[in-house]
Amino acid sequence: MAHSPPEDRFQAFIRPEIAMIPPSATLEINELSMKLENEGRTVYRFGFGQSPFPVPVSVVEELRKHAYRKEYLPVQGLAELRREAAAYLSRKTGASWEASRILVGPGSKELMFLLQLASRATLLLPAPSWVSYAPQAAVAGGRVEWISTRREHRWQVQPGELEQAAQAAGPGTKVLVLNTPSNPTGHAYERESLSELADVCRKENLWVLSDEIYGDLHHEGNHVSIASFYPEGTFVTTGLSKWAGAGGWRLGIMGLPAGAHSIAHALAALASETFSCVASPVQWAAVQAFRQEGDVPVFLDHSRRFLKALGQWVATSLRKAGIETEDPAGAFYLFPDFEAHRNALRARGIETSAALCEHLLEETGVALLPGSAFGMPGTSLTARLAYVNFDGQATLDRLARNGGACDEAVLRELAPDVIRGIETLCEWFRALYYTD
Ligand code: PLP
Repeated sequence: MAHSPPEDRFQAFIRPEIAMIPPSATLEINELSMKLENEGRTVYRFGFGQSPFPVPVSVVEELRKHAYRKEYLPVQGLAELRREAAAYLSRKTGASWEASRILVGPGSKELMFLLQLASRATLLLPAPSWVSYAPQAAVAGGRVEWISTRREHRWQVQPGELEQAAQAAGPGTKVLVLNTPSNPTGHAYERESLSELADVCRKENLWVLSDEIYGDLHHEGNHVSIASFYPEGTFVTTGLSKWAGAGGWRLGIMGLPAGAHSIAHALAALASETFSCVASPVQWAAVQAFRQEGDVPVFLDHSRRFLKALGQWVATSLRKAGIETEDPAGAFYLFPDFEAHRNALRARGIETSAALCEHLLEETGVALLPGSAFGMPGTSLTARLAYVNFDGQATLDRLARNGGACDEAVLRELAPDVIRGIETLCEWFRALYYTD
């Protein structure tokens, strides 16, 4: 009997649709960044979007108190937590939620994946959007219908474009993915836009997966959810990863529309056959987190103030260097558009966002993620910039002492690497036009 060469044997092990998933752009940039750092180069890290802030002290304290808990919990989540999460979602979304409609999972990412696995829906996905939705669809066996957006619209879906995409997708279950405030753009949908999109969703019989993981990092504390306009068709996901700085704790929640018992059962079945439940001490600590009492209001106020001030400083500096980007409204990202520099970049042999990011990293140490990683066409000269490379604890300590003031001197003191990185980036673009 003939034996296959070893690589073929291993390759044959993998389902073709899984083998086709490209490695994450974040990991690639991280690897190249590490290589440069090992060579002694300075790298300005704008690639990885992790909250720099610590978990609030009262929430850590609660985790410590419950560390001894070792029992499995109900697959849908701890009853106390589901009650508290329902109250939290009711406060944040302007719709009303009951504990029976909440599912707790190891991160909202996993819950979104289970929803896709259960439905095999066609995703209506705005470009740009977060990196994981489309690969999840590929794994789950669903399709993606991309909706292109424009910078003039803050990269947000317009009602007419949504209607067209819904019709182009044909019959079957369709899910619009909305992420506000957005990763990768930092923009947040306004009330009026959400109301108009809700009308289209109702008319076209769409479901909405509303990813509100950055809702509490709206810089003005004015998060709006499409659930308040379209409660009958909206799944909301959120969790502790961003506003509470607890990404590694792995706790997310999903709110399901009223009456969606069969979907809740299907998701609980998938959860019970895979992760069983989120770590028990983490669920107990999350009860405290979703109450947002004690030190949390000031923690949130200071986090938002600082992110807003720093985001505005970065956006203003980029605009001064002729790079187009609007001030952000939430989260900790910007999605600058380098289109105005296309000719100058072409003269350097740069025609794609991936090439631009590689050149920037090699020549300046500035690490951005290419727009193509977020569903943009390869030739779009866009990139995501995460402005989180600062010490979150030192920032909160400083703001506690100065009453939350965030002028430029404070930004320079607390986020020197962000400031230096942006100055380096702007200088590189200016230098494209220097002539001898
Ligand atoms: N949604 C968006 C837009 C994100 O940026 C992230 C994390 O990077 C997630 C969801 C995942 O969150 P979680 O940690 O709850 O799985």
